[in-house]
Amino acid sequence: MTKADIGLIGLGVMGANLALNIAEKGFRIAVFNRTTARTREFVEEAGPLADNIVPCETLEALVDAIGAPRPIILMVPAGPAVDEQIAALDPLLARDDIIIDAGNANFRDTRRRMEALAKTGPRFIGMGVSGGEEGARHGPSIMVGGPQDSYRRIEPVLEAIAARYKGEACQAWLGPDGAGHFVKTIHNGIEYADMQMIAEIYGILRDGHGLSAQEIAPIFARWNEGRLNSYLVEITGAVLTAIDMDTGKPIVDVILDRAGQKGTGRWSAIEAQSLGVPATAIEAAVAARSLSAMKAERESAEKRFGIRVPSAGKPGESALADLEAALFAGKIVAYAQGFSVMAAASREFGWNLPLGTVARIWRAGCIIRSQFLGEIADAFDKAPETENLLMTSAFSAFMETAHPHLRRVVAQSAEAGLPAPSLSAALAHFDTFRRARGTANLIQAQRDFFGAHGFERVDREGNHHGNWNRG
Ligand code: NAP
Repeated sequence: MTKADIGLIGLGVMGANLALNIAEKGFRIAVFNRTTARTREFVEEAGPLADNIVPCETLEALVDAIGAPRPIILMVPAGPAVDEQIAALDPLLARDDIIIDAGNANFRDTRRRMEALAKTGPRFIGMGVSGGEEGARHGPSIMVGGPQDSYRRIEPVLEAIAARYKGEACQAWLGPDGAGHFVKTIHNGIEYADMQMIAEIYGILRDGHGLSAQEIAPIFARWNEGRLNSYLVEITGAVLTAIDMDTGKPIVDVILDRAGQKGTGRWSAIEAQSLGVPATAIEAAVAARSLSAMKAERESAEKRFGIRVPSAGKPGESALADLEAALFAGKIVAYAQGFSVMAAASREFGWNLPLGTVARIWRAGCIIRSQFLGEIADAFDKAPETENLLMTSAFSAFMETAHPHLRRVVAQSAEAGLPAPSLSAALAHFDTFRRARGTANLIQAQRDFFGAHGFERVDREGNHHGNWNRG
């Protein structure tokens, strides 16, 4: 029988759709799933694509079905399941076979796995895949890290299955070891901030202006026609129009206000902190999800403190223009922070991450795809050495006109008691960032006072101590 071009383990939501995408593009794919019944069901449901699928009931059969050097995609939950699969595959594979972890791994695990396998095992690739179920089936954004020659072996498959932006495939090799999984993590961190800021604007419209879901939906739909054009703004409009079949109410009104998280948002915040890069809009979004999970505490707190949001009435055109520009300005800061984290990681781990390429492969397929990412790609193309998007000519000009709106929205929300943690964090970041003289002189004085840490002076070189009058 003709050998398969590639193998895949884990026929869950992502794995099954990715396998169908690969089969549809004319590649022969061998598949294995821990629960064999699922493998059989998958092939039965594959229709004519089953001709390109080789179902395997053991790992030995899977390995045997693929042409050498064998690339095998793992699409299993991040964590121990990946280590278990690697341990099971390692003795069956040759040195130049390639295990590709396509789940949402922590890049530190990817580095560890790569290092361990480098001694005796097969090659290892860490590959971020974004776009959810739909993306996996019809074209995801794919972020690859690992040995570049192993990437070349799978490049034709990735090129064929990735999303396309004006004909260009949204996949790329971004650097060695954990580069791909790191970029995917930051993608998700930015996604957290993007979603949170949209939710904050929704909250202002719902609780401040008293609009119903049906009244808010066309506002997002309209914004999606302009500079906020993006998948997330588009689906927000669609989500807000959907009706719950059981109650006849807007479905968002019957959904509990408690959001889950699997780890990538938190990892983004942790890595930003480890690298010493402020990513406060992302951190605020991660914290907001944690607060959302504290439903019982929030109910007690509302009983204790009460909420009195003065009604702002139906928003006029100028209030809507403020909200639209505030979302745009907040988004600029969140993306600038995310890209700065990637720039710092690139330096720290010696990856030489191509930030323009990162923006380009996020323009289609992934959850944060947007018109805006095209502008980010252009900004990095014009100034490849740029580490801070806020300082590029295009984005500094956008920010100059948008920040007064963000300021007004944050100020009015604070006055009304409406939470806008991510938008507020974005504004605070911008205001702190653009002040040449900040307030850390006082922090340094305090540190020297209590710990003799010393400080630098504005008028002289060297480390100095204060002659503190301790009373
Ligand atoms: P899923 O639907 O829960 O499927 C998990 C798959 O892994 C199943 O085939 C399952 O097999 C298998 N599996 C679970 N534990 C295993 C183990 N210990 N050993 C071997 N196989 C095991 O998960 P998913 O949503 O496809 O996610 C897969 C990966 O993609 C995760 O890392 C996830 O974070 C990432 N991801 C998901 C999305 C998304 O939108 N869902 C988007 C991007 C990335 P059984 O049938 O035997 O249970």
